[in-house]
This record gives sequence, C-alpha cells and structure tokens, in this order.
Amino acid sequence: MVIVTGGTGYIGSHTCVELINNGYDVVVLDNLSNSDESVLNSIEEITGKRPQFFKVDIDNAEQLALVFNKIGSQAESIIHFAAKKAVGESVNEPLLYYRNNLDSLMNILVEMERFQIPNLVFSSSCTVYGQPDVCPVTEATPRKEAESPYGNTKSMCEDIIRDTSRVQQLKAISLRYFNPIGAHESAKIGELPVGVPNNLVPFVTQTAAGIRKELTIFGDDYDTIDGTCVRDYIHVVDLAKAHLRALRKLEVETRQNSYDIFNIGTGKGSSVLEVVNAFKKATGISVNYKIGSRRNGDITAVYADTTKANTELNWKSELGLEEALRSSWNWERNYRKIRA
Ligand code: NAD
Ligand code: UDP
Repeated sequence: MVIVTGGTGYIGSHTCVELINNGYDVVVLDNLSNSDESVLNSIEEITGKRPQFFKVDIDNAEQLALVFNKIGSQAESIIHFAAKKAVGESVNEPLLYYRNNLDSLMNILVEMERFQIPNLVFSSSCTVYGQPDVCPVTEATPRKEAESPYGNTKSMCEDIIRDTSRVQQLKAISLRYFNPIGAHESAKIGELPVGVPNNLVPFVTQTAAGIRKELTIFGDDYDTIDGTCVRDYIHVVDLAKAHLRALRKLEVETRQNSYDIFNIGTGKGSSVLEVVNAFKKATGISVNYKIGSRRNGDITAVYADTTKANTELNWKSELGLEEALRSSWNWERNYRKIRA
C-alpha cells in the first residue's frame, strides 16, 4: 500500500490516478487546506477505484500518529506531496511555511521509523537552483540561497531526508519538479488556484475564459530569446508517472540507506511569449496581454538536464507544451462549464 500525502491536491491527484491504474492500493492523507474532498470522486470516476481517505493535519504529530496506528503497518511507501506552496504568502508568513512544511515532513519520517516503512518519494522543486549560472541544470548544479521561505523549506526538507536516510532504514528520492502544467485528459482533475492565479498557465486559461481581462507578462527585457523569462513546463501526467518510476526504483533498491535526487522536467526551456503563442496554436484562442514590469524574485531562465532521470529512472517526458496547454484549457472549460 502507498500513502499519498496531499493526494487531493493538483499533482497528488494525478499521481493517485497513475498509481491506481498501475495496481497500487492508495491511501490519501490531506487536511483539504488547498483542495477539495470531491477530487476523490473524480479519481474514482477516472479509475473505478476510490482511495481510502483520512482528513488529517500532517503537521500535527498526535493527529498523524492516530492515523498511522490504523494504516501504518500496511504501508510500504509514502509519496509526500503535502506542503504549502504559495511563494508570496511564504514571504509574508515565513513561520507558517517553516512550521507546516518542515513539521509535516519530520512527522512523516517519525511514523516511517515507527512502522518500518522503507520507501519515501518527496516533492522538491527547481526553486532550489535559484538563478543558475548555467542552463540546463543537472542535479550536481549547486543549490543557491532560496529566493523565498517556501523555496528554503524545499532545500531544508531535502537535507532533512538526506541526513535521516543515513541513520534510519530509509530509502528516499527527492524529485525536483520544474514547472508543472496541464491536466488529466478526462478534464476531471486539474489545478485549482485559489483567487487570482500567481502562476502563468492558470492566468492564461482564466484570461481565455474571460475571468481575467488580460495577462501581464512580467518583463520583456531579460537576456533570453525574446526578452521574457524561460521555464521548463512539464505536463502533470508525465510528472505523475515519474513518481511511479521513482517508487519502482526504491522497491528494488537493496541498500537499506539510500538517498537520491532527480530533475523532472522536459529538458526544453520555453519563454512566456512562446507559451502564449503555443496556447494560441493549441486552442485557437489569442490571449490578450500587455508587457508589465519585472516581478520581484523572478529567475531569468531555468530548465532541466533530465539525463539522470532518463537513464536511472527510465523516465522521459512524453507530452509536449501544446498538448499540456490544450489539457489545461479543457480542464478550465470543464470546470467553468464553458462550451466549445
Ligand atoms: P497543492 O496545494 O495542490 O497540493 C498540496 C496538498 O497538500 C493540498 O491538497 C493541501 O490541502 C495539502 N496539505 C498542505 N499542508 C498540509 C498539512 N499540513 N496536512 C495535510 N495536508 C496538507 O500543491 P501541488 O501543486 O499539488 O504541489 C504538491 C507538492 O509539489 C508540494 O510539496 C509543492 O511544494 C511541490 N511542488 C509544486 C510545484 C508546482 O508548481 N505546483 C512545483 C514544485 C514543487
Ligand atoms: N508570468 C507572467 N505573468 C503572470 C504569471 C507569470 O509573465 O501573470 C511569468 C513569470 O514571470 C515567469 C513565468 O511566467 O517568468 C512562470 O511563472 P510561474 O509563476 O508560473 O512559475 P515560476 O515563477 O515559479 O517559475
């Protein structure tokens, strides 16, 4: 059995679908602070199976221990998605982020030791590379000082896992996600940003849906192909599949103490303007935009070298930018009940 923390969230729900479709027994833990219980219905509609669900604050050790008393002895692996992830909010409320993201991980590690659960996959982020000196970045590229408390929690969590894996019977993998976008092809699950989206693609789809007047592109004077920032946009279904490959690697790993890190991206950088143009190609919709000033803390360009994941996880992204954007739009339309 696999415990998926944050399993009703954006990436967690897509990973639950892939796990169930590949025969895994899945148990979801989430406090629904940034997701909705109805996602479990959608997972059931897609897969024909409803994961067992516990509503629990993972940062609360006592609450979590009660849940593990019920399920811990059947678990072989944990995929730990649960975290707060809003960069701006983390700047304003650092303690909230350190407490939630660090305590949650440490509570999970304690329960893993208590129940001798060997395998952990952790959601890290390319944010740990900060503004890299060279692109693409490999896993050996030095981490930079984090731009935000959120980013710092990812670096700190990676270190906590590394150090714990040296002394506890723990096999762990951190996956450094680049920019996840897109949605399941059924359009039954997808990203659900609260309020005005901070991220590019939800802003684009909401503008296409008429909810936002226009997209502001944050700066066109960067040293990139067209002056706008460059990111590596990875389809969430490809990303979900990477978790299965990571789990498989841990399942066959014979060393009792192991820790590894993998970049999960497409290997290709796309500028903001390229995303806007790809959206037009994928959907036929021209999104209104204006060029605004740079956003504080933005990185000029970051994209992944995925050689390590390709060779050691036997994983490669398969879906392209246009496919991802089309699926984001289908999800937005389905969610808002917009007709074609
Ligand atoms: P999400 O907010 O959709 O999902 C996270 C889930 O965790 C939510 O359902 C939330 O309710 C739950 N949660 C948060 N704190 C909890 C707690 N204390 N107890 C129980 N549940 C809790 O986010 P997502 O985009 O699916 O991200 C999943 C993971 O991937 C996070 O760790 C995030 O930091 C990481 N990540 C995300 C991105 C991205 O752009 N989406 C990029 C890199 C890394
Ligand atoms: N971006 C933008 N307008 C928006 C939101 C984002 O121009 O309304 C740009 C942003 O400056 C960055 C890219 O889109 O260059 C991706 O931003 P996002 O917030 O999605 O991801 P991150 O900054 O975490 O890589």
